[in-house]
Amino acid sequence: MKTTNYSTKTKFIFITGGVLSSLGKGLAAAAIGALLESRGLTITMQKLDPYINVDPGTMNPFQHGEVYVTDDGAETDLDLGHYERYTSAKLGQKHNYTSGRIYHSVITKERQGKYLGGTVQVIPHITDEIKKSIHQLDGEADLAIIEIGGTIGDIESLPFLEAIRQFRLDVGRENSVYIHVTWVPYLKTAGEVKTKPTQHSVKELRAIGIQPDILLCRTETQLSMDLKAKISLFCNVPTDAVITAQDVESIYEVPIRFHKEGLDDKILELLNVWTGSPRIEPWQELVRKIKNPSHRVLIGIIGKYVDLKESYKSLHEALVHGGVANDTHVELRYVNAEDLEEQPAEELLSGCHGVLVPGGFGSRGVAGKLKAITYARENKIPFFGICLGMQLAVVEYARMIAGMKDANSNEFTADTKHNVIYLMKEWFDHRSNKMQVRDESSDMGGTLRLGSYPCTLKKDTFAYAAYQEDKIDERHRHRYEFNGDFRKELVEKGLVISGTSPDDTLVEIVELKDHPWYLGCQFHPEFQSSPMKPHPLFREFIKAGLKFSRKR
Ligand code: GLN
Repeated sequence: MKTTNYSTKTKFIFITGGVLSSLGKGLAAAAIGALLESRGLTITMQKLDPYINVDPGTMNPFQHGEVYVTDDGAETDLDLGHYERYTSAKLGQKHNYTSGRIYHSVITKERQGKYLGGTVQVIPHITDEIKKSIHQLDGEADLAIIEIGGTIGDIESLPFLEAIRQFRLDVGRENSVYIHVTWVPYLKTAGEVKTKPTQHSVKELRAIGIQPDILLCRTETQLSMDLKAKISLFCNVPTDAVITAQDVESIYEVPIRFHKEGLDDKILELLNVWTGSPRIEPWQELVRKIKNPSHRVLIGIIGKYVDLKESYKSLHEALVHGGVANDTHVELRYVNAEDLEEQPAEELLSGCHGVLVPGGFGSRGVAGKLKAITYARENKIPFFGICLGMQLAVVEYARMIAGMKDANSNEFTADTKHNVIYLMKEWFDHRSNKMQVRDESSDMGGTLRLGSYPCTLKKDTFAYAAYQEDKIDERHRHRYEFNGDFRKELVEKGLVISGTSPDDTLVEIVELKDHPWYLGCQFHPEFQSSPMKPHPLFREFIKAGLKFSRKR
């Protein structure tokens, strides 16, 4: 068997998780990225997910949380959202691989006869494919942070762990660091902090040949030196590499805490990288703002996945950012769209200073969302419709104002005369420079309008006032579009079209005039908001909400 020795321009940081899921491994990876970037290094990031789906595009947000969309149209794990919010890394297809995608590529090559009659096996073929996907990042930045999804001990993550074990052999110690995120629980009954789960997790990791260099211990309280010494002894990791990752009030505190614990120094020492000290003041300033807001607004979010906040992760964060820009604490009230079908809107939405209808798929809850839109429109409550929310705002306007009683989206009914939202069978994809063709029977995966598309804004609109420029780029993830056949009539009846594709064929933003702030966009602005650069539409929506709250 051939082993390759690569020379790398980039140094690699691998992050694994132990004991249980939901320890905030993705956030930790993002915060490490932020911290190292603040030391003047360039960063790229990648997530390797052990599940068999080729990408998370077809996965139910209930199970897996939000599907995050990148500029190049990749449908990725929500952790990529954290990475892009915390760092300036620009991510895409090559920054998220699943087992499914790795196997798909190996099996395709096998069918093409590329393995020359050899037996295709997990080691070396799958592991080589994994290593290849990691090596793609070489040269992209000074450091690449690679997060392995899942928990140590899972059967399905083994090929990834084997691949990263081999990786150090290929690139050498000075070019690779293993960080293990683990749990150090506090047992109330014993009144003690317990290190055993961490010991076991590290033991598992060592059994497959990986000795972690750094342990990130999730705890409720700061670990004492004694505890660090104990973990150090049992896990074979120096005490200064046992890092407390204490629970925090705001997720944006994490980079600051990690720095206090000396995590960035330790990583750079292990990788033999010299830099200046970090510039963490912007993070301190951000946390100060989040913790001491002068104002408060309440925003009602009308959704279907209301029980699982993870399915609206980027949206939730973008609203926080909009709040930061207005020195305002944004309180969210998640309202189940189906409850709105039975209860009056004023009961469920009373006290809200803004109403937001986010993206979604399928007909469940649509009637409730339409009711919320009518309520916001008639009561002049700031309204923000995103993707499905924009499409429903168009349906609502067509039905209630333009007299098209049966107006609907073809997503919900095929036979309506006024299909104001419809499936475009042919459209030009500017990224591949090709016409795309699809119909109702097309695959669900990968047939949406995905990724960044340009949009031209009209002056004297809410959109223009927010962006202050006439050309913008925003990310999409949808199958249906505004139907141009009804454009003239709806505009005549008062609907404002403030953003379109540069060739004016696709409607991207709709608004209403005599309303304090009413805007629906076909794209997902939440994917481009970050705490350091709050998205203009979220900033303006919160500003309008704040104004509305003062009037009351
Ligand atoms: N279901 C709608 C469509 O496919 C909207 C999608 C979304 O909100 N992301 O066009």
